[in-house]
Amino acid sequence: MTFAIAAPFGTRAETISPDALLRAYPDHLAGRDKDALLWRDGMKQALSDGKAEKSFDDKLANASLLDQLSLAYPKGPLARPPGPRDDPGRFRNTEFFDRMYGNCEKGETQRRLVDVSWIDGTKLRVTSVNGVADRLRAVIRDIGRLPQDIKRYAYPSAGAFNCRVVKDTGKRSMHAYGAAIDVNVAQADYWLWRKGAYRNRVPFEIVEIFERQGFIWGGKWGHFDTMHFEYRPEFFDDDARESAGTK
Ligand SMILES: [Zn+2]
Repeated sequence: MTFAIAAPFGTRAETISPDALLRAYPDHLAGRDKDALLWRDGMKQALSDGKAEKSFDDKLANASLLDQLSLAYPKGPLARPPGPRDDPGRFRNTEFFDRMYGNCEKGETQRRLVDVSWIDGTKLRVTSVNGVADRLRAVIRDIGRLPQDIKRYAYPSAGAFNCRVVKDTGKRSMHAYGAAIDVNVAQADYWLWRKGAYRNRVPFEIVEIFERQGFIWGGKWGHFDTMHFEYRPEFFDDDARESAGTK
């Protein structure tokens, strides 16, 4: 008999089953078999890219669906700063997100953007796909109820939809899908500005509200970006967590 020992990061030894994708994105996914996702339009997408040994950088630049699910997102407040490779959610399969939200370079994403009023009344453009706009409205409602000294970390927003790529990976950012938002930039810490030295000033009350609506937070990444939240509900599916190496 073996006993599981809690990893320092909380979840390091855990991966996520592809079933989490089916439950998180039911409008788009019809099912799966052992090797592939089945999209509602009949397309099949392979879970693996067949590469046995991928480096961390290769996963960042060319994530398969299994890579995308290979790091579980830690629950609750962080007990200590994330390690350099604790980047749950940063491995993103471009084909997967393009198929759901569209390719902004072709103007597809833009057709499904709607305006949402942020905490301070400014307009943000986010996608209506997967109910993201409605989820963000729930975030706005709940942050609006926080005391002023906490709420102030959430505004002004540094933006939502933006057709751009992530600096270090060259791949489309979740902002390019209208499924990410940056909160107050003046209170933000970013790994590229800080030469990697972790710091966070965003109160967990704000993080918790986003997480409840299916948004992961960039403050839980080794490559931290504490103003950044993106809609990734697959990371909150507790039934999909499995120990690494059991697949
Ligand atoms: Zn961002």
